Amino acid sequence: MLRWTDVLTFAKYSNPEPPRRVQKTEAEWAALLTAAQFRVLRHKATESPYRNAYCRSYEPGRYQCAGCGSVLFDAATKYHAISGWPSFTQPAARSAIRYCFDDSHHMQRVEALCNVCGGHLGHVFPDGPAPSGLRYCINSESLVRVAFEESGNSSI
Ligand SMILES: [Zn+2]
Repeated sequence: MLRWTDVLTFAKYSNPEPPRRVQKTEAEWAALLTAAQFRVLRHKATESPYRNAYCRSYEPGRYQCAGCGSVLFDAATKYHAISGWPSFTQPAARSAIRYCFDDSHHMQRVEALCNVCGGHLGHVFPDGPAPSGLRYCINSESLVRVAFEESGNSSI
């Protein structure tokens, strides 16, 4: 389980090696993504609180990066943070997220990015629930929820 000290260590020294890397030009990303996804993932925009797709969604499944399809979060770690954005306590894997210090907007925050494609996801804060104490505050536009495949019940 990752804790705040792990997040700070990643941001300060080096992030976990991603399982693969996806690199595209601005034009390729613009062609691939919706305008709203492009603004968030590639230009670090923040979507409106509450008025976003996954804020109040608690259905099971996996949340993948809207840019490259990498699995970022499991719905089992999603919780109601009353922030207006989807919030998670842990990434799907230690190497799923890249962390960078972000001093923009006169705040000291830790930015969360997709470790595979570098897309901006949101920020991580140390005010989440026990036991990890982490709150991954993520833009819905950077995520796509994929339901778990049902196994064994698909025959007709
Ligand atoms: Zn990605």
